[in-house]
Amino acid sequence: MPPEKLLQTVWQHQRLRRDELKTAAGRRLRVLHPGFASAEGGPDFRGAVLQFDQAPPVSGDVEIDLQSSGWHAHGHDQNPSFKNVILHVVWETAKPNPQVPAVLALQSVLDAPLAELALALENEAGLPEALRGQCASPLRELAAAQLSEILRAAAQVRFQIKAEAMRARAKAVGWEQTLWENLFRALGYKHNVWPMLNLAETKSRWLPGAGSALEIQTRLLGVSGLLPAELTRAEKSADTFLRRAWDGWWRDRDAFESCVLPRALWKLHGLRPANHPQRRLALAAHWLASGQLVAKIGDWGAAADPQVSPTRWVASLHAIFWVERDEFWSWHWTFKSARLAQPQPLLGAARVTDLAVNVVLPWLWIRAQEGGNETFQREVERRFFAWPAAEDNSVLKLARQRLLGTTNARLLKGAAEQQGLMQIVRDFCAHSNAICADCRFPDLVRSWRTN
Ligand code: SF4
Repeated sequence: MPPEKLLQTVWQHQRLRRDELKTAAGRRLRVLHPGFASAEGGPDFRGAVLQFDQAPPVSGDVEIDLQSSGWHAHGHDQNPSFKNVILHVVWETAKPNPQVPAVLALQSVLDAPLAELALALENEAGLPEALRGQCASPLRELAAAQLSEILRAAAQVRFQIKAEAMRARAKAVGWEQTLWENLFRALGYKHNVWPMLNLAETKSRWLPGAGSALEIQTRLLGVSGLLPAELTRAEKSADTFLRRAWDGWWRDRDAFESCVLPRALWKLHGLRPANHPQRRLALAAHWLASGQLVAKIGDWGAAADPQVSPTRWVASLHAIFWVERDEFWSWHWTFKSARLAQPQPLLGAARVTDLAVNVVLPWLWIRAQEGGNETFQREVERRFFAWPAAEDNSVLKLARQRLLGTTNARLLKGAAEQQGLMQIVRDFCAHSNAICADCRFPDLVRSWRTN
């Protein structure tokens, strides 16, 4: 049997006799778009567009397994992430089973012998040219300066949307609380934004009376529902820390019962240990315990010096968010991991850019606007547009390939251009489908070119 990875590549590149495809139940299948490979767990391909017999095309996910029995054996039938799967692609001929989505066996429909395909697809990284978006061609015809102009215009829109949302929230809860809520959101990354935001929203209920970073951390672990109920029984240092946390939480628990979140709200599966919310809560606890974070951010924003390079801004903002040591989390990735030989930072340098472009700069900018301080506002904008690029991520990778036809991350010159590309994905791709149906962006690009 071929490796599953090869089947995924065959599916992505559609190295199939595409006009002969039939499901196990005998329905004719047209693949209008195979979907986009997902790097985030769940089904292998997202957003495929398929047509069964003469029915209208449908959009959904595609899962690839060697055998059709994999649908139950791998627990896809019980996993809510798989509820949008419309096609189960397998290697071997499969019998129809009404309990699984439509099944397509690849073995008899490859367009070349398997060994030949394995060789041909060996070095095929990224999205095949045929799967690029309809905007890829007009975008390619733009001069570099025009492309940059489009991306920066989209980035400006994204920045202002964030800033306006902060203004609206600040009217209800004040600027400082708005900043905390957005910092917590950012610490949730994409999977745990909502529970993190919930914690920040109830801060005034669970924070009073906790002063040290450890006390705040204990409260946060308790109200988040992420304080493990059991000792690890493997790591002495972890168990000592857990006993202390439980000693604190037992005392507090009744008083904060109403803020406690269900553990099920957190998405913990597949997270890198460094991104585990328990670790992020420890970081937030240190920020809260310092009592100076908000003032320091304000001072950082006000220190307008055009001579300072973008790298220095990153470094100075990083220094504000930097936590020197946490007695437990500097030495452990998780509660269960062994003690590290070297302490690890609670916040990597790369994350500072996420905090800057998503939280700190929009917050400073909209506050400056509210205060009628145009000079300050322009300075914040200048920093935003000169901010170095953030770490690459799966949204950017796919967008670069689909819209710009490149895997080269350096094509985007800074964080603002990355933000602009993400905004285009949100404004256009998210309202269309994999075959770019009814998308107005290609026409917009053409008209931009001729203006
Ligand atoms: S949906 Fe629109 S913006 Fe997205 S790739 Fe297709 S044409 Fe481009």
